[in-house]
Amino acid sequence: MKKITYKQKAHRYFWQRMQWYVFGFILFYAPFTLFARGIGKLVGQTPDITIHDTCFRIPIQNVLSGKWVELFSIWGISLTLMVISALLFGPFFCGKLCPTGGFSELLARYIPRRLQIDWSRFINPVPVRYGFLAGFVITPFISGNLECAYCSFTFLEKLMNAGFWSEMAMLSSCAILTGFLWLVIFGIFTKGGRGYCNFMCPVGAAQSFLHSVGRMVKWTGKLKLAESRCTNCGTCVDECPMGALEKSPDGGHVQYNIHHCITCTQCVHACPHEALSYGTGEHGFSSSPSATSVPAQTPA
Ligand code: SF4
Ligand code: SF4
Repeated sequence: MKKITYKQKAHRYFWQRMQWYVFGFILFYAPFTLFARGIGKLVGQTPDITIHDTCFRIPIQNVLSGKWVELFSIWGISLTLMVISALLFGPFFCGKLCPTGGFSELLARYIPRRLQIDWSRFINPVPVRYGFLAGFVITPFISGNLECAYCSFTFLEKLMNAGFWSEMAMLSSCAILTGFLWLVIFGIFTKGGRGYCNFMCPVGAAQSFLHSVGRMVKWTGKLKLAESRCTNCGTCVDECPMGALEKSPDGGHVQYNIHHCITCTQCVHACPHEALSYGTGEHGFSSSPSATSVPAQTPA
């Protein structure tokens, strides 16, 4: 049997992941929304067939404004599943199912790398993304539906809706800016194509935070590094769409930032030394000087 190279293996895995995102689209987006319909059947509720049925922010807003969310509702079950899956497996939704992230990542593959910016070299995305998460939770109390206008999920839904042109005509300037940031500035012109995920997506930020807590427990799923196998070659750094990995400046082994990682395991399939894996147990990224938890902010 012909042996495939690690580059081919990573390429093949990338396309497998893209198939998962198509499945995610069918699960969460109109006209299918199989996920909301399935849970709706279970709890005897008829969903509105929009992405808002499974939005995690709306139930949080309800709780903060004193309206308790019924646990056995589409929102209640979606939120619970999101929290449990992120604690147990990491940001599984981002890494395998979210079609908005998958779409911008796919488009970015077709743009030459020299035209793309690695924003994490200039700005640490961690405070920005958690700041956006706080903003998405707080803004409904200040300004109507502003947070929905800046949501790439809503934008994709409008793009895909049957009444495409009438939906597009109704887009606000905020939504147009969101589309531009998601697909252009933070999409095709960003290394990995996931600048929106990294800086602006509250769903991703919430899951990253939960994963950073969940990974402390031995029996949860996490990215693991066998340090002795790692040659600091940087192959995984090039493959990571989120900029969660960085070569160590002083040799040693690759550095990892869990607050960006979406546990897509693209790096696992790309590593030529099989130093990376995903599973339970200790994460294996030591806190030696060559393995910091936040990437160094060095200029390009
Ligand atoms: S984990 Fe693998 S691909 Fe990444 S730097 Fe180490 S040896 Fe290279
Ligand atoms: S570190 Fe690996 S698993 Fe995490 S986002 Fe990057 S490629 Fe995916």
